[in-house]
Amino acid sequence: MIILVKKNASKTQIDNLTETLRTLGVQTDTSVGTNHTIIGLVGDTSAVDVDMLNALDIVESVQRIQDPFKKANRRFHEEDTVIELDNGIKIGGGHFQIMAGPCSVESEEQILTVARAVKEAGANILRGGAFKPRTSPYAFQGLGAEGLRLLKLAKEETGLPIVTELMDASHIDLFLEAGVDIIQVGARNMQNFELLKRLGKLDKPVLLKRGLANTLQELLTSAEYIMAGGNSKVMLCERGIRTFETRTRNTLDLSAVPVLHQITHLPVVVDPSHATGYSRLVPPMALAATAAGADALIIEVHNNPAKALCDGAQSLTPAEFAETSKRINAILPYVWGK
Ligand code: PEP
Ligand code: MN
Repeated sequence: MIILVKKNASKTQIDNLTETLRTLGVQTDTSVGTNHTIIGLVGDTSAVDVDMLNALDIVESVQRIQDPFKKANRRFHEEDTVIELDNGIKIGGGHFQIMAGPCSVESEEQILTVARAVKEAGANILRGGAFKPRTSPYAFQGLGAEGLRLLKLAKEETGLPIVTELMDASHIDLFLEAGVDIIQVGARNMQNFELLKRLGKLDKPVLLKRGLANTLQELLTSAEYIMAGGNSKVMLCERGIRTFETRTRNTLDLSAVPVLHQITHLPVVVDPSHATGYSRLVPPMALAATAAGADALIIEVHNNPAKALCDGAQSLTPAEFAETSKRINAILPYVWGK
């Protein structure tokens, strides 16, 4: 980190600043020029608050050289992280998977029908929300604990591992008892830091979705919260961000895939369903995400989208999912070069 100090700063002010920085555990290297004084920070600067420095009267500007995330950083961990689920399925580092299922678990018949259909069509992981983050408090909130019981049933019958969203840390035990294989943190909770810290204490894969208006760096610092607690099984999910465009539910930031691969070793998942909001847009964007190098896709599928209690407009029918899955598998060998 480099701090550019204003011309009129006194020696005492500069000395006070370097002393404060030393108490934060960083070494400083001050170079006094004719026009400016520059303070170089050496060592681990992750505890230094850039905004706090910028707010000081004597500071002209601050430039961060080091990324504010370490454990998620490819610079310190060159190899791709491969996440292995309890049944041996792997995600990342050349292992590509498709997660599919309804937005919400609605009934035993619904989840079993969809689970059988997506398995038949080539999905390896079943998705389904039991606790739903809905914009309106009057909208269907999910079946809660009953939804987890039904997911467990679907897992027992099909053998598919399950991924479902956790909104409240007090539900963690329920999730573990239900045999949830991947805990999803939804876009709205990407910066729920207390929740992230709790997940850091588990030995369970986490699917961390990008917030509606968050940068990739913020996504990585959120991943860092989980990893700093000791849980390194984190997958990042691009699910569209909010822009000025209104013809799609969100804007799928596909460049996030290669950018994330460059700066982190964590697997990158793409959700073309929430990113676009319309089922007809899901197959082309699922293919595009595969071509861009995603390690996994998460796709909403419903046995009767018109009657779905949540996100019917973006849900594929089992037949549409089967066709999409076939096309993804057809391009995979070209993308991964094998
Ligand atoms: C979901 O996957 O069901 C969901 C609510 O997604 P997001 O958090 O990306 O909106
Ligand atoms: Mn949904």
